[in-house]
Amino acid sequence: MTGTQHPNWEQIHNQTLEPYLNAQLDTMVQQLMQLIRYPSISQKPDHWDQMEPLLNAVSAIMQPMGFETEILQSPGCPSLLATLRTSPERPWVLIYNHMDVQPAEEPQWTTTPFEPELRDGRVYGRGSTDDKGPALSTLHAIHCLQQAGLPLPNIQVIYETEEESGSKHFGQILDTYRDRFENPASILVSDTIFEGEHPAITYRLKGLLRAEVSLTTGTQDLHSGMVGGAAINPLNVLVQALSQCVDAQGHVTIPGVMAELPPVSEAERASLQRTAALFDLAKLKADTGQAELYSDQAQELLERIWLRPTFEVHGFEGVQTEPGVIKTALPYAVKAKITMRLVAGQDPDRVLQQLTDCLQAVHPGITVRMLGASRGCFSAVDNRFMQAAVAACQAGFGREPAFVGSGGTIGALPEFERVFVGAPLVLIAQSLMSDGYHAPNENFQLQQMRNGFKTMAHYLLSLADL
Ligand SMILES: [Zn+2]
Repeated sequence: MTGTQHPNWEQIHNQTLEPYLNAQLDTMVQQLMQLIRYPSISQKPDHWDQMEPLLNAVSAIMQPMGFETEILQSPGCPSLLATLRTSPERPWVLIYNHMDVQPAEEPQWTTTPFEPELRDGRVYGRGSTDDKGPALSTLHAIHCLQQAGLPLPNIQVIYETEEESGSKHFGQILDTYRDRFENPASILVSDTIFEGEHPAITYRLKGLLRAEVSLTTGTQDLHSGMVGGAAINPLNVLVQALSQCVDAQGHVTIPGVMAELPPVSEAERASLQRTAALFDLAKLKADTGQAELYSDQAQELLERIWLRPTFEVHGFEGVQTEPGVIKTALPYAVKAKITMRLVAGQDPDRVLQQLTDCLQAVHPGITVRMLGASRGCFSAVDNRFMQAAVAACQAGFGREPAFVGSGGTIGALPEFERVFVGAPLVLIAQSLMSDGYHAPNENFQLQQMRNGFKTMAHYLLSLADL
């Protein structure tokens, strides 16, 4: 698919965007560094008090640009809603980014994660590329066009602060404050990553089911010689039960789950095959520290990551973890921490029931407690918004984008699909995997910031006329 470049692009690029970047890039960097200094780690409750001051700082950047801002409270962490009215004749666009970040305790950090540094054309710091930097380049694209008197759609921006902890209250925020939101013609999200060197439009994301699987068979640890073989070892049973859920090739084997998967169209398979041809398998191996993979075929790996559900055991509770020591005791109460990544169209409640049935067939005493669930998302690629996004990537990043899926989850997206029914989601990446996404030494390249700014400017310019 190709998009059409904006008729006045060369002129706008040379006379408006480049001069703005030359004058404002330092400010953008300073603002990014200011936002990174808030350690807005949503997975840690003792950091939740960072969110409101951070959103106030963002608000102080946006108000001089003409946005009206409001903090939307929730029982968890708040969001910031900002509104810019341009013209009643033009459509509304809703833009989403998140201002919370991953924890940053990896020992490989060479800088202090929340004391940002500008070095070699990159801003280092937790949250730089995920997602504070892309939020700022988008925001400045709006400001630049607005200042130059160029046509813009009406814009609402929402910044969430619970994305990295599963967006537990985001749906509630949308419902509680529904009257503050206009009806968007489409929703723009910049919280995804390039496919290697290629700009990427993510059209499919997975959902996530998180659960704790428990089995209790007594009230105290038991001697493995005195009663071993007579008393049930709940850990043995739990491992047996978990092994029914996935095979050694990584295929989910929970009865019913694969049989009920939504079909994948021929067009999508063809698109995936094209992306697989661009996919850098050697880089994936390097990025994963030479992890052992289930296949050495790019297409098979992408199908696994994008199109098929997963089942993962992450850890156990109630078990011995002391290295090198084996206490000859049977545990009496054990838990497994598990997740499943679900594809678009799978119902988490239905899968939870299938999972529970599968485990309880091994031992009826096994209980499954759901800790959180979000649905996968699928965005049709054959609409004018996607065409505009393709043209924008060509204009801003100088390369045609790849349509990609993701095994990741952005919890806000299914809530948008639920509340703003029919508004296409458009996900344009600005980040690179090599930016240290969810990893140590996270950074945002100024070149990505510049090109992301141009891409967003082109996209918003074309939406004004749609
Ligand atoms: Zn993110």
